Amino acid sequence: STPVTYVAGLAATAQKGIVIKGGVHLEALSRVKIVASDKTGTLTHGEFAVLNIDMVGKWKKKKEVLRCLAVMERESSHPMASALVQKAKTEGVELTEKDQPSEHEILKGEGVQGVVDGKKMYVGNERLMERLGFMSKVEFDVRRKARAWGAEGGTVGFMAVEGIGVVTVFNVADKVRDESREAIMDLKAMDIDVYMLTGDGEGAANAVARKVGLEEERIKSGLLPVDKLNYTGRDGGGERALSDAASEAEKKLGLFISRGNVLMVGDGVNDAPALACSDVGVAMASGGAAIAMETADVALMDSDIAKLVFSIKMGRSVVSVIK
Ligand code: ADP
Ligand code: MG
Repeated sequence: STPVTYVAGLAATAQKGIVIKGGVHLEALSRVKIVASDKTGTLTHGEFAVLNIDMVGKWKKKKEVLRCLAVMERESSHPMASALVQKAKTEGVELTEKDQPSEHEILKGEGVQGVVDGKKMYVGNERLMERLGFMSKVEFDVRRKARAWGAEGGTVGFMAVEGIGVVTVFNVADKVRDESREAIMDLKAMDIDVYMLTGDGEGAANAVARKVGLEEERIKSGLLPVDKLNYTGRDGGGERALSDAASEAEKKLGLFISRGNVLMVGDGVNDAPALACSDVGVAMASGGAAIAMETADVALMDSDIAKLVFSIKMGRSVVSVIK
């Protein structure tokens, strides 16, 4: 049965909007030595603004390209998608109920693909554009500009149309949460190693890292959901899906595996596998990904990362009372 102090610990945290799904997780919290944090929506607000958007080539008028972009993105839940839809609207694009893609699919860690007005198109990062062979056909000047935007700390994206190529390049940026830096300082003071795991590119990742006080060697960027899982997932017990892709990634990464004291904090669909399989999964409510909230052991209802620090402290104090 659950000791009385555990119940008290669960009640005290619940009062602060921290839902810990059982005393066993308080115990796990007390053992945490490594915190792996998602970036977008976790250390940052996950509310993007479009900084630049340039047309590439002469496929269609700017407004037409922006309409296609908005139709593609209105269907996706990634935080940068709504910024792009908003941008198209401020540029005069009007969307009706009928402006829907006839096909739409999320490409995890890369972007989206779909069909608009009978044309297959893609919106996403450089990795996606490389994989589909669009990148090599992009003019040097455009690539140089994209690289410069990335180095400044923005997230660079592209839209490409099948048979045409890249038609637009843009960059978006997000703001770091006020609480992030202090929370990371607190964790370090508690002798916890803090890492950032992100699907975003190196430029955007390092810019956030500098702002929150994380060392560059603790930043892992360009990750797929399976990479996040391989960094944080429990070893053994058959709980991890050891697909070929996973074991490849494992050889490459493998860093935190089986230390038995890894906490993962995140908010997105792309964090869900890692949240489910780390020693402690902590979900931030902000991302609105039900799957993240469901698979996590702890849910922070108001997305205040300082409450992660409080949860670990509570775990430590409750367990020290028992022992
Ligand atoms: P994260 O939320 O950590 O950035 P994701 O795995 O969700 O990780 O996405 C990884 C990258 O894929 C994003 O940083 C972005 O460059 C690209 N991406 C994902 N979804 C979209 C989208 N709907 N539109 C454009 N780019 C996207
Ligand atoms: Mg996120």
